[in-house]
Amino acid sequence: MALIELHGVSRRYTLGEIEVRALDGITLAIEAGEFVAIMGQSGSGKSTLMNVLGCLDNPTEGRFLIDGQDAGQLGPDELAALRRERFGFIFQRYHLLPHLDARGNAALPAVYAGVGASARGARAQALLERLGLGERLHHKPNELSGGQQQRVSIARALMNGGQIILADEPTGALDSNSGAEMLRLLKELNAAGHTIILVTHDPTVAAHAQRVIELRDGHVVKDDGTPAGHQAPGPQPTAAAHDAPAEPAPSSPHAAPAGWLRRLQVQWREALSTAWLSLQGNRLRTFLSMLGISIGIASVVSIVALTSAARTTFEGEFQGVMSGKIWLWRGNSDLPPGAQPPSFRLSELDALRSLPGVASVQGERQLNAQLRQGARDSSVQVRGADSGTLFERKLKVDSGRFFSPYELSVGAQVLVLDEQSRKALFKDSESPVGKTVLVSSSGLAGGLGGGGETASTASAEGLPGGARATPPAPLPFTVIGTVKADTQLGFDFGNGRAYVPERTFIQRLDSRPAVDAFSVQMDFTQPPEEVLRHIKHRLVALRGAENFSSWSGDSEFRKMQNFSAGFAALFAGVGAIALLVGGVGVMNIMLVSVSERTREIGIRMAVGARQGDVRLQFLIEAVVLCCLGGLVGVAFSWLGAQALNAAQDKLFVSVSWAALGVAFAVSSAVGLVFGTVPARRAAALSPVDALARE
Ligand code: ADP
Ligand code: MG
Repeated sequence: MALIELHGVSRRYTLGEIEVRALDGITLAIEAGEFVAIMGQSGSGKSTLMNVLGCLDNPTEGRFLIDGQDAGQLGPDELAALRRERFGFIFQRYHLLPHLDARGNAALPAVYAGVGASARGARAQALLERLGLGERLHHKPNELSGGQQQRVSIARALMNGGQIILADEPTGALDSNSGAEMLRLLKELNAAGHTIILVTHDPTVAAHAQRVIELRDGHVVKDDGTPAGHQAPGPQPTAAAHDAPAEPAPSSPHAAPAGWLRRLQVQWREALSTAWLSLQGNRLRTFLSMLGISIGIASVVSIVALTSAARTTFEGEFQGVMSGKIWLWRGNSDLPPGAQPPSFRLSELDALRSLPGVASVQGERQLNAQLRQGARDSSVQVRGADSGTLFERKLKVDSGRFFSPYELSVGAQVLVLDEQSRKALFKDSESPVGKTVLVSSSGLAGGLGGGGETASTASAEGLPGGARATPPAPLPFTVIGTVKADTQLGFDFGNGRAYVPERTFIQRLDSRPAVDAFSVQMDFTQPPEEVLRHIKHRLVALRGAENFSSWSGDSEFRKMQNFSAGFAALFAGVGAIALLVGGVGVMNIMLVSVSERTREIGIRMAVGARQGDVRLQFLIEAVVLCCLGGLVGVAFSWLGAQALNAAQDKLFVSVSWAALGVAFAVSSAVGLVFGTVPARRAAALSPVDALARE
């Protein structure tokens, strides 16, 4: 069985209407160990034949057998394996990768065979030293002469064994000395057992071969045939030949195929280092596409951080006031106008205290009163207060102080004003602390929120308030301090407010054992809706009708949370668009890069890269690009947050490690998503087309 057999092989190209028959019914056989020259004029089909022989191109018709195996039956990866393990290519224009040095270029085929970096380097170095390039290991192709570059490509052809060496016009670009040297090397390789197939248009070059096949217009017009008495070489060229240092480098086909884990490692390392080299080789482009991703990531991270900081502040303020609270007041909008539902008796409040989920029930003690100071007077809502009031109402002391435990316990006639009532009663320049204010309870008790309800008179039925029939005389109170809202939210509306100790309120202002409104603090053991349902149910049972209203801070709070979450999502969406634009930019850059580097892809495929290797390489490049961009973006948003926090104290923007991690993961994902199209496009290139492009 011949090493290579062609049976009726044709290769046609269709250029519009015209069909070019580059090869037309070629039948021939080449034995292992032959030195064959394929001759013919330019355009006769030599290169096309060479590409078919080297599994770079598929015949349109006919069968091509290598070692009895039909190449037409093989998939792209199996063809890649053949190229990698059996063939070594030497091209007229050398086809070395410009960014790799001599050693890296020679070692390239071993990368795809899964050989580790140090073993690769050592073997490449040995081969180059034998070829007289020991001094040039670290020179890039553009620092080498033509003859030297061609010797590097011989080393590359031998890297994985190079049982069959395919040389397409190897002397075409060389001066006569280098050309002669090249032919000498090929002869030596043939003597060492390599099968050599040499393409040339030059009869003096062809004369060096043992057998000449001549092509014209895609036909074989002359074939000497395998020389009589041709002896196939031993099993394969062996490593033993290395012992003769003068020999160029007959070599062992590289030993046992590497394990899949090893191969994977080598594959990834190569993809990463290639990505790094190519990104470095194109700094401006790399920088610009990184910038796109950076801006995208930075905008997402900072928008999310900002909105969540705003939400935390905003919600924190509301939650303090509203969380776990239910407010109830008498009357509701379903009652006929003028109806006066009874106030809540203390026994009703007691009944609610025993309900599940209720931590405490607090009567809201407040009434509208006329406050007078000197010549000024104002209608103010007076509230009973205790030590928890500052916290519950989100107030802070502005001047003076709040009630002392002693004042609270004895029911002292002391008063704390809010900003509005202070302005109503005092000049701005005047300090109210220590002044006396006269309070005359008008007898009108206000509902929640400063009189939203129909005011009820003290003589409402069921109240033992005969004493309230005539308004009591004004009482003197000493102002001990002023308070103002401890929040950025404009919560206060309506009348001004004044606070007196709760005990004072009951003893001096309103002694009714009933309240018009009260609040329930839940203990969070039950769902808020459940608690509210129980309260309503119990109150209806006690009062005989639903003549009251309720407002659950919790459910309102949750509504508000949903609302602000919606806003946050909207903003994040805007950031995501920026990221998307960055991703499209990367895709664009990568597509340009694929078409710019077609020749590189072709070379890699010729030396045995699988489609998967090429795909991985471009994908990794996109991912590395996006990761770098993401890293820069993440760094920028972190710095931005620090700067913002340093510049102001209203809003604390925190960028968590988790958020940074997610941002980084997202940018890698962007690389994956937008790198896929270019990577697929690169992998789908046919090696021969890729090589043909200059
Ligand atoms: P040689 O190497 O002997 O100069 P080629 O094998 O390169 O010849 O080309 C043989 C014929 O096929 C020529 O006529 C050439 O124009 C044609 N040919 C080669 N490659 C292509 C291609 N990719 N598309 C169309 N025609 C091609
Ligand atoms: Mg050619």
